[in-house]
Amino acid sequence: MSRPVLDVGALHGMLAEQAAIGATPEGGLHRVSASAEDGRVRDWLTDWFRAHELRPLVDPVGNQFGLLELAGPDAPLLLTGSHLDSQPQAGRFDGAYGVVASCQAVAAIQAAVAAGAPRPRCNLGVVNWTNEEGARFQPSLLGSSVYAGTLSAAAAGELTDRDGVRLDEALDAIGYRRGDAAPPASAYVELHVECGPELEAAGRRIGVVESWWGAVKATVEMVGRQAHTGPTAMRDRRDALYAAALLIVAVRRLADEANADAAEVLYATVARAEVSPNSPNVVPGRVLLWVELRSPHADVLERAHARLASEVEQAAAAAGVRGRVAAESVRPAGRFDRELAELVDAVARRRGHEPLRLATVAAHDAISLAALAPSVVVNVPSAGGICHHPDEYTAPEDLEEGAQVLLDVLWDLCGTGGESHSRKDGGGGSAAAGI
Ligand SMILES: [Zn+2]
Repeated sequence: MSRPVLDVGALHGMLAEQAAIGATPEGGLHRVSASAEDGRVRDWLTDWFRAHELRPLVDPVGNQFGLLELAGPDAPLLLTGSHLDSQPQAGRFDGAYGVVASCQAVAAIQAAVAAGAPRPRCNLGVVNWTNEEGARFQPSLLGSSVYAGTLSAAAAGELTDRDGVRLDEALDAIGYRRGDAAPPASAYVELHVECGPELEAAGRRIGVVESWWGAVKATVEMVGRQAHTGPTAMRDRRDALYAAALLIVAVRRLADEANADAAEVLYATVARAEVSPNSPNVVPGRVLLWVELRSPHADVLERAHARLASEVEQAAAAAGVRGRVAAESVRPAGRFDRELAELVDAVARRRGHEPLRLATVAAHDAISLAALAPSVVVNVPSAGGICHHPDEYTAPEDLEEGAQVLLDVLWDLCGTGGESHSRKDGGGGSAAAGI
């Protein structure tokens, strides 16, 4: 029996099915975490798990697993997957592609074993992480952070969306807060569209994501005094939105200044603002801003982070309001498992590709998993680098090729006679030896 064979038709079929759940008129997808649409796509995935004899599990933060036990209850678990939640008015590939391709890769291995291929040395699991996007509940990577133990399920459940709905209530409403223990992974492989322009620009089809950028996400509060926009004298105004505007400009300037030095890279954005009371006739009394800083360089990010606090003070002082960083989270830059990255590289080359090594700017759940087990991300091109937009697109051949690479990586890690097998015989390193 030769290697497992991917069912390409089933891959595209599943992609189309999931894209119909929460579809928008523009051809995109609107399926924020723990919404009714998210509930429907989770049910769809559960049905698929059951139909393919994967054991469905749901942990207390709603992470959804489908387990295929091929090597006995004590064998290591090779986990693969991504997320089915989306940003508002987004595209049909981000996250969903990785879950669907994982399903088909696992199904291909299952079929090969049923047809007489040697039994794998590990069990396989497909995962759909809760609230990867961080659109409805902050922070992002929520489900995988709970899985990694950096956040408790109880604390995650208490997080509220902008309407004050708690995550645990929202999960209960769709039936996806359960008591199953999350199965511990020995390794994790995530396939994802690049959400960036580099593969396309380089004319490559497979990216091996070696590392990730660091990020600071801060919520800044400006508090002034609500007043009539008419009779209130200019000297008496404590305009929180004016302070916010000054800060938005300052944040942009942080990036422009850093990037003027060719050795430094900093991305800086204010992407969301909440203005109170948000009436045309009222000087805004309170504004919340969501600020993001991202860099591959720890020192650049640290400097920008320190500057942010003083920029908040300066902007507030100039507008005569009070400003503070109300909440922030810091994700340091880091590296995925080297040996696993080498394995993906070797598999891609075997299939005739010249893989591109990448550092991901977008966060992925694999970053959470990397703290627990050897982990890696495989990318395929995003047309025009477009992501979080209805125009998100990856060519069918690229989707197929990425899924093939994922399948071959899983088989090499788990199968008998794959590359990792011989490497393990030779003493092995982290990834293969972990499996
Ligand atoms: Zn994603």
